[in-house]
Amino acid sequence: MVSYYRPTRAEISLDALRSNIAAFRAVAPGSSRLLAAVKANAYGHGAVEIVREAEACGVDYFGVAFLDEAIHLRRSGITAPILVFGYVPAEGLGIARELNIAIALFREDILAAAAMLQPHSSALKVHIKVDTGMGRLGLTPEQNWRSFLERALHTPGVEVEGLFTHFSKADERDKAYTERQVRIFADMEEYVAKRGWHIPIIHAGNSAAGIDTPEWAGGMLRIGIGMYGLYPSEEVNRQRIALQPVMTLKTEVVMVKEAPANWGISYGARYVTPDRERIGTLPVGYADGYSRMLSGKAEVLLRGQRAAVLGTICMDQCMIALAAAERADIGMPAVTEGEEVVLFGRQGAACLTVDEVAKWLGTINYEVVCMLAARVPRIYLRGNEVAGVTNYLAEF
Ligand SMILES: *Cc1c(COP(=O)(O)O)cnc(C)c1O
Repeated sequence: MVSYYRPTRAEISLDALRSNIAAFRAVAPGSSRLLAAVKANAYGHGAVEIVREAEACGVDYFGVAFLDEAIHLRRSGITAPILVFGYVPAEGLGIARELNIAIALFREDILAAAAMLQPHSSALKVHIKVDTGMGRLGLTPEQNWRSFLERALHTPGVEVEGLFTHFSKADERDKAYTERQVRIFADMEEYVAKRGWHIPIIHAGNSAAGIDTPEWAGGMLRIGIGMYGLYPSEEVNRQRIALQPVMTLKTEVVMVKEAPANWGISYGARYVTPDRERIGTLPVGYADGYSRMLSGKAEVLLRGQRAAVLGTICMDQCMIALAAAERADIGMPAVTEGEEVVLFGRQGAACLTVDEVAKWLGTINYEVVCMLAARVPRIYLRGNEVAGVTNYLAEF
C-alpha cells in the first residue's frame, strides 16, 4: 500500500527524539517532571506521533498553545496529561474539564466562569500563570495574584494543579534577567509555601533553561525546540547537551534539463543562465513551507554537495543548479531524475542545518520547522525502518 506519492517528505527520526529526551532527562533535577511542548503540530513534526513516542520515553506532561490542539490530541486517543499554555475562553472550560485538559488561568472573568460551571464528577485543572518578566500572559507581582490564587484555590470544582511562569531571555549568555525572573518566581513560591498552600507542580524552564540552568526549571522542565534536536539560540552552551536534529526535509529531482544560454529560470526570470546550464526541478515550494523569501539565497544537498536554488521559489516547485553536484571535473556521472535532494538535514556525511535555513530567512530555527505545511507527508523512522507515515491529504 502506498501512503504517499509525492517525493517531498519530512523524515522524522524517532531515535533522535528519544536521544534528545534522554539528554534532557539526564540534566533535569532528579524529582523534576518533563513536559514536552507539542504546540503547532509538535513544531511541525506531527503532534500525535511525537506524543506517542515521547510518552513511551517517560515524558510526564504535554503542552499545547490552544484548547483546539489539546482536543485534537484527546480525539486521537492521547490520554496523557495535557496543559494548554495559552488563553482558553469561557466557552471552552466545559470541554477542557470533560477531556481532562489542564488550562493556564490568569484572567478574573475566566475564573468567574469556572466557578459557574455545573457541578461535575471531576474538577477543572488549572495552572495559574504568572508574569515574572516575559510581559505576555500572566499576572505580574503587582497585580493581585495572591488574592487571585487564593480565590482559585477556594473555588469548588477548580483544582489548582500548577503555578508557572515563562522565561524571555533564558537562551542568552547573560543570565541576569532570567535570574531576576527566577527570584520573583521564588518569592511567589515562598509566599505559597508560607500560606501552607499545596500546589503540586510549580514550573518555569524551557529548553534553554534545561541546557544552561536546569536548576531554574522548578518542578517541571518544559522542553520544546531542544527535544526536536535544535538549539534555542547560538548562545546556549552546546557542550552541555548533545542534541540530534529530528527532522530531515527531503525531495528528489523530478526533471533534469539542459537550459540554453540566456534562458530565464522560474517566474520573473530572475535568474538567467549565463551559458548552457544543467538545471534540476524539485517538487517543493513555498506552499510546503519552503519560503519564497529563500529565493536567491538557499542551497540544498545533492550527492552531498551544495547546490544553489536558482530564481524564484514557486508555490509547489523550485529549480537548482546541477553543476556543483555533477563535478564534471572529476568525471562524476550526470545527475538523473529521481536522485535525492535534502533541503535541510543530513545527506551522508554532509549536513545543511535548519539554523542555516533560518539565517537565510532572517528568522530562527523554530519558525523554519513550524512552517512545514500539512500537505508534506511525515515519515517516522526507527533505525532505517519506517515506523509510520502521516499524510493528511489522503488515507490511501
Ligand atoms: C513553547 C513553550 C515552551 C517550550 O519552549 P522551547 O524554547 O521550545 O523549549 C515552554 N513553555 C511555554 C509556556 C511555551 O509556550
